Amino acid sequence: MTTTPITIIGGGLAGCEAAWQIARRGGQVRLYDMKPHRFSPAHHSPDLAELVCSNSLRSDDRNSGVGLLKEEMRRLDSLLMAVAEETRVPAGKALAVDRAQFAAAVTARIEGQPNITIDRNEITTLPEPTTTPLIMATGPLTSDPLAAALAELTGAKHLAFYDAIAPIVTADSLDRTVIYQASRYDDGPGDYLNCPMDREQYLTFITALAAGAKVPLKDFEEPRYFEGCLPVEVMLARGDDTLRFGPMKPVGLPDPRTGRDPYAVVQLRMENREGTTYNLVGFQTKLTYQAQTEVFRLIPGLERAEFARLGSIHRNTFVCGPLVLEPTLQCKMRPDLLLAGQLTGVEGYVESTAMGLLAGINGFRLATGLAPVTPPPETALGSLIVHLTSSDPKHFQPSNINFGLFPPINLKMPKKNRGAYRAEQALLALENWRRTAAL
Ligand SMILES: Cc1cc2nc3c(=O)[nH]c(=O)nc-3n(C[C@H](O)[C@H](O)[C@H](O)COP(=O)(O)OP(=O)(O)OC[C@H]3O[C@@H](n4cnc5c(N)ncnc54)[C@H](O)[C@@H]3O)c2cc1C
Repeated sequence: MTTTPITIIGGGLAGCEAAWQIARRGGQVRLYDMKPHRFSPAHHSPDLAELVCSNSLRSDDRNSGVGLLKEEMRRLDSLLMAVAEETRVPAGKALAVDRAQFAAAVTARIEGQPNITIDRNEITTLPEPTTTPLIMATGPLTSDPLAAALAELTGAKHLAFYDAIAPIVTADSLDRTVIYQASRYDDGPGDYLNCPMDREQYLTFITALAAGAKVPLKDFEEPRYFEGCLPVEVMLARGDDTLRFGPMKPVGLPDPRTGRDPYAVVQLRMENREGTTYNLVGFQTKLTYQAQTEVFRLIPGLERAEFARLGSIHRNTFVCGPLVLEPTLQCKMRPDLLLAGQLTGVEGYVESTAMGLLAGINGFRLATGLAPVTPPPETALGSLIVHLTSSDPKHFQPSNINFGLFPPINLKMPKKNRGAYRAEQALLALENWRRTAAL
């Protein structure tokens, strides 16, 4: 057993879970957090594991993606899931917690764990590699000097400071009698699905888009967008036809039913290899979730669209997982360094904690000479890893957990049974993995 402590930078959700996973296996941890000397613009409490916004950890139904992820984490003895249960408040089918009690209880458990030492200091450079692994879990608002050090390691192009997420729809909710397959100026079958609009449909759509409610920016979020991924409503504000010369450009995409290019087109790109989900190309947005479902269902062919994920844009530090991460969460450039939490390219409290749990397991294994492990793709944990490491790096954006990330299943199965089927398969695969890897 190693006696050199494993360093964890960041005592947020992922850092605390990672520390716990190492300590409960008998490993030593030194956990750094810059609070209370320095606070990110969203953190206010001196406690560790602060939930910076909502108090909800979302659905607790294990037949949903996020409910299943929580169940898998409970089975892997997650500290944060246990504390969430102890501090839960009534919220219907969701798991919501008293935020102050939650952070205080996690802090007390971490402070009371004899294998963990807490050091309240900002880390401004990446410690030099040693034989003991290092875990970085400094989150979406990683302090500037450390973010710069990570950018230097990964290559500046592979570290982002804003996410720009376009909605994703499920393939089986698309109306294929309206939508046609084609790539621009391509005679072949084409890689994109195209939703054609005539002039009237376009005008109705842009009117609704302009009127749709927007999520207000936080004080520390400057509206400094990259020209290449402007929110769709910001593009529209530049002129009624801007979208027709941008993401909705119809040229070179004749509709096979008319033989002519439509007036405007919304393109859908396959989001996963199995083709069970599609991304609305160029439709990153700050519209509220409700406005998105209303406005995007005006697009021909998407009238009954089911959204696997809705669009958003936030301040968020994250790596381009497919180019930076191994499926064990080790950095390709530096295998002693594991990333955890939202830095990896997952989105949300539960997903970030889950990536702390896996980094903790693997940090301990590497420190003790065991091979690091990767959860099976049928599990919620494993499907997040597939997203982080096997997505197309050119279009990589953070994701929360959803069934669109899982391997495909027989789509003839009635929809209402699919969640339960996936949950059953996932939990079997998880138990099998736990047994084989002796977790
Ligand atoms: C404004 C905002 C609102 C959000 N709202 C929600 C929401 O409602 N629901 C949801 O599911 N997700 C939400 N998220 C996402 C959520 O914050 C993350 O999913 C989650 O907290 C990330 O966990 P983490 O452990 O990776 O990082 P954090 O929980 O942010 O923890 C990072 C820790 O690292 C510390 N740190 C940073 N830099 C350094 C350094 N250089 N040295 C030492 N310590 C450092 C910080 O003090 C912090 O304690 C929100 C994010 C933001 C920014």
